[in-house]
Amino acid sequence: MPAFMEDLVRYAASLFDLTLSARQVEALRIYEQELLEWNERMNLTAIRDVPGIRVKHFLDSFSCALAWRDNPPASLIDIGTGAGFPGIPLKILYPSMRLTLVDSVGKKVDFCRHVVQKLGLDRVEALQARAEELGQNPQYREKYDCAVARAVAQMNILAEYLLPLVRVGGIMLAQKGESGPSETHTAEGVIRLLGGNVRKLIPVELPGVVEERFLVVVDKVAVTPSAYPRRVGVPAKSPLD
Ligand code: SAM
Repeated sequence: MPAFMEDLVRYAASLFDLTLSARQVEALRIYEQELLEWNERMNLTAIRDVPGIRVKHFLDSFSCALAWRDNPPASLIDIGTGAGFPGIPLKILYPSMRLTLVDSVGKKVDFCRHVVQKLGLDRVEALQARAEELGQNPQYREKYDCAVARAVAQMNILAEYLLPLVRVGGIMLAQKGESGPSETHTAEGVIRLLGGNVRKLIPVELPGVVEERFLVVVDKVAVTPSAYPRRVGVPAKSPLD
């Protein structure tokens, strides 16, 4: 487990072929500090210890790089970002990326805005909103190279949240645990209905984490039918099948 920032840098390089600059490491250190401080006052994330933050938040967020290697998306929307994962660590990695952070809970969005301001990140918007609203808003619909989510919903629900936001030719990325393969298999028809096509599942290994993790990469191959996403709350209440 990375007890020191040097360990985090080493793992980022060996696991994901990422080179972190001193400036990026400093940004992560500040982010970690803010997370620890805010978590004392409010329940932002269940992971509260330093090694846990470094592995399960920072390295796990960085694992998204396995999906695009040397060709990161120019625009990314992170749905259900919580305290900023995976969106903010990815923005630290790729400073020129346009980023939209979305969560339905105001205090989480407040925290994200605070971190964005503290780190001086530009081209970032943090919205208190529901994925279903943005998916039907012309300003956001089919406007992103990549829509990502971690720990937000089952794959069939998640596809209705994410795919409407991705431009044709872009990707949907779902960070999943051990149920990733079965959830993806079950949701394949729904993904196709929404204009997606499952490209691959990438196994992700993190230091000291025994549970299996997967990145599910879905290509957006066709325009999403205008009926989707359905009204707020409907995708979770009556998932497509
Ligand atoms: N992605 C973060 C992470 O992995 O640390 C947070 C995960 S947290 C378990 C799930 C988050 O998704 C919550 O903050 C919740 O408010 C948000 N959420 C769930 N459904 C949503 C929706 N339809 N639109 C926007 N946010 C949603």
